[in-house]
Amino acid sequence: MPESRPAIPTDIKRKILIESGHRCAVCGEGCPLERAHIIPWHKSREHKAEDLIFLCANCHERADKEEWGEKALREYKQKPWVMRRFDKEQITSESVTEIELIIKLKLSDFDERLQTLLPHAIAGLLKIAPQNVQITSIEEGSTKVSITLPIESAEKLLSAYASNDPELIKYLEPFGLLEIRYKMKQYVGTLVGESTSREFRLAVTPEAIREQDIIAVDAELVQSAKKTNLEKIRVWAKVQSIERINPLFPTEAGHELAATRTNPFDKLLSI
Ligand SMILES: [Zn+2]
Repeated sequence: MPESRPAIPTDIKRKILIESGHRCAVCGEGCPLERAHIIPWHKSREHKAEDLIFLCANCHERADKEEWGEKALREYKQKPWVMRRFDKEQITSESVTEIELIIKLKLSDFDERLQTLLPHAIAGLLKIAPQNVQITSIEEGSTKVSITLPIESAEKLLSAYASNDPELIKYLEPFGLLEIRYKMKQYVGTLVGESTSREFRLAVTPEAIREQDIIAVDAELVQSAKKTNLEKIRVWAKVQSIERINPLFPTEAGHELAATRTNPFDKLLSI
């Protein structure tokens, strides 16, 4: 290089990386990536996020040799490979679930720029289209961000979080991630009877949950025989089946009663 130029600031590098899903904006190659200036540096003499794009060595060389020019590169920047690739994928509303991310940033620091970046970072990590990641709410606290994700991706994200996946840390680093969890919607029920880690039963609030829902149950784990060490745990489970049991009023009795067309109000019924 004929003259020295300052290094590109880390937060700009990160932003560019995230928007292209850590891939070449043109062909989707994963690495190694090179930063290319849309406006050549010798003209602009500054590193602006709007003028930078990540390309693989091959595309970078071609862009220079074939003189792709500003317009083409801007188009690639606006619609990098990750976005084009998933354009045609269907998003079905019934197959999404809500996830909560707790981040260290103050609500006031979680500005529009970061709010746009977050879905891209998560989509890049999970290799899904950014439009599959929707921010549904943002709350003050340690800033709680709710997003919807396709169920499979949500499971992938949670297991990446549980296993301290270095990729996840890399992608979400700018947000100061503290925790990822399923969004707690409401109280669903109380644990009853004997429980194991494979299976447990809940007395559920009517209509609170449906089969195949994913629920969380807070419980206490007995650590020692003395039963003094109670460890608080949260168990995540998928609802396999919901049984409607009322020993005093079996289903059959309900059917019989319905058949007689008896008005049940103000009547004593013998069972
Ligand atoms: Zn490339």
